Order: sequence, then structure tokens, then C-alpha cells
Amino acid sequence: AKARGRNGFSFYAPSMTGEGVERLRLETFLRRSIEKEEIFLNYQPQVEIDTGRLIGVEALVRWNHPELGLIPPIRFIPLAEDTGFINQLGKWVLHEACRQMVRWQEAGLHVPKIAVNLSAKQFERGSIVNMVADILRDTGLEPQRLQLEVTESVIMNTGDAMVFINDLHSIGVALAIDDFGTGYSSLAYLKQLPVETLKIDRSFIKDISTDANDEAIAIAIIQLGKSMNLSVIAEGVETEEQAAFLLRHGCNLAQGYFYSRPLAADDMLTRWQK
Ligand code: C2E
Ligand code: CA
Ligand code: CA
Ligand code: CA
Repeated sequence: AKARGRNGFSFYAPSMTGEGVERLRLETFLRRSIEKEEIFLNYQPQVEIDTGRLIGVEALVRWNHPELGLIPPIRFIPLAEDTGFINQLGKWVLHEACRQMVRWQEAGLHVPKIAVNLSAKQFERGSIVNMVADILRDTGLEPQRLQLEVTESVIMNTGDAMVFINDLHSIGVALAIDDFGTGYSSLAYLKQLPVETLKIDRSFIKDISTDANDEAIAIAIIQLGKSMNLSVIAEGVETEEQAAFLLRHGCNLAQGYFYSRPLAADDMLTRWQK
């Protein structure tokens, strides 16, 4: 906003706009969110379409601020990335996710695997492999039960991502490409990388039975995955029709509101424990 003083003097500072103040406030709050225990995880089940069997969960970070309420990750992840806080946050998320897997196991719920989102910034510091290895050792979770999700842009635009991804694979951690089909990706890279899973972005699933283009893209991704021996999981499955379409075209793995919203850790127990 621009303000004009009585003497015709005008001043303008970008950081003083409403948006800038809001951002600064959020940034200040965010920096203390972990120690104040405002950050927690929800877990969204991933299922086999034909049997309904639980094959894993995706960990999704949540921030509940006492005054601002529940702030969605699309509002604070980019901020965390800009300020560098993502390194601390990402480490906390990974540790909590792995620890939760062990807690469920102890409570009698076997969740085959957990997927955790990584942001590009987490690859820039180096030593992401050491961090992951430390957390696995500390929590006792088998590396095979952890899957890291990265987007195509992380792979394509982050200098050493290829090296780190290979290192992660060498310690036994699985890799999924998130939001597949929305970014710029090279099939040559895909062939070289030790990727296990492609996640079809939910934008293609949304209108799958009415939009011919989305339908074609989804089918192409399923075929691509098949021919490269990768698992393909569809995101954002909200209806039975979408699930049926996927199954008909050879995709038997799904995640979405049709199966379950992201759940609190304890609700996983009540909902999925036999
Ligand atoms: P994403 O990785 O693509 O996660 C899937 C998002 O889709 C989640 O939103 C989930 O709640 C939502 N979703 C799941 N099923 C459905 C459905 O059937 N319909 C619709 N409309 N939406 C569905 P959420 O939890 O708000 O997360 C948004 C994004 O924030 C994530 O997208 C991811 O990019 C980022 N994010 C979340 N947690 C983390 C994290 O721990 N670390 C990092 N770096 N990013 C995270
Ligand atoms: Ca994801
Ligand atoms: Ca996704
Ligand atoms: Ca996304």
C-alpha cells in the first residue's frame, strides 16, 4: 500500500504491505512451531483397489497454530522453503513418520510402508542420505518400508538430486515420483533412476471419465509404468467410477477421499486394525 503524508511525501516499503506483514508474522510463528508442538502428521491410506487391502500411507504435515488455526501445507511449505526452515521441518517429519510406523507396529497394526514428501531444498544441503540413515537407525524402521516422494522438478532441476537418489536407493529406501505428468520430466532420466513408483497426479484423475485428454494421459502413465516395471498409484481418487476406470486400465493402487481422508495416527488404529 502506498500512503501519502500531509506534506505530499510518500513512502513505500514492500515489507509493510498487508501481505508482507502477514508473511513476516507467519514466518516468525513458523520458526517456533516445532518446539511449540504445533506441527503434527496426518496419514492417508494407500490401498489395493481390487481387495481394499492397505499397502501403505502417505505422511502429510499439519500446522495448528493456537490463534491462526489449522494452516494448510500449501501456505507454509513454500514459506519454509524460502526461509530454510524446511530442513528442520523435513527432518522432524521424517523422524516422526518413521517413529509412528514403529508405534503402530507395537500397537498391532502393520502398515507395510510409509511415504514421506521431500522438497527440493532438502537436497541442496547435501548429506540427506546421512540424515535418512540416522533416522532409520534411531527409530529401527526397515529402510524398505520407507518411500520418499519427490516431484519431477526436484529430479530435473536439483544439481545433485540424481546422486542423492542413487545413494538413498543403495541404503534400501524406495523412491516415488510425485504428481507425475505435471512437470517437465525426461523419460531417459526415469530409466536411469532407481524409481519404484509413479504417482499419477490427481489433476488427471479428477475428470477421468469425462475428459478424453485426462483419460489418455492416465492410461499412458499406467502403460509407461507397466513397461518400465514400476508400480503406479493414482492420487485423488474420490469416486467408485474413478477406481473402476483405473482397475479396468491396469492400475490397482489408489489413494484418495474415496478410500480415506488423511487420518490422525490414532484414527489409523481404529480404522485399520482388524
Ligand atoms: P501431495 O504430496 O500431492 O499430497 C496430496 C494432497 O492431496 C494432500 O493435500 C492430500 O490431503 C490431498 N488429497 C488426498 N486425497 C485427495 C482427494 O481425493 N481429493 C482431493 N481434492 N485432495 C486429496 P495436503 O495434505 O494439503 O498437502 C498438499 C501438499 O503439501 C502435498 O501435495 C505436498 O506437496 C505438500 N506437503 C504435505 N506434507 C508435506 C511434507 O511433509 N513435506 C513436504 N516437503 N511437502 C509436504
Ligand atoms: Ca506426495
Ligand atoms: Ca501428489
Ligand atoms: Ca502436489
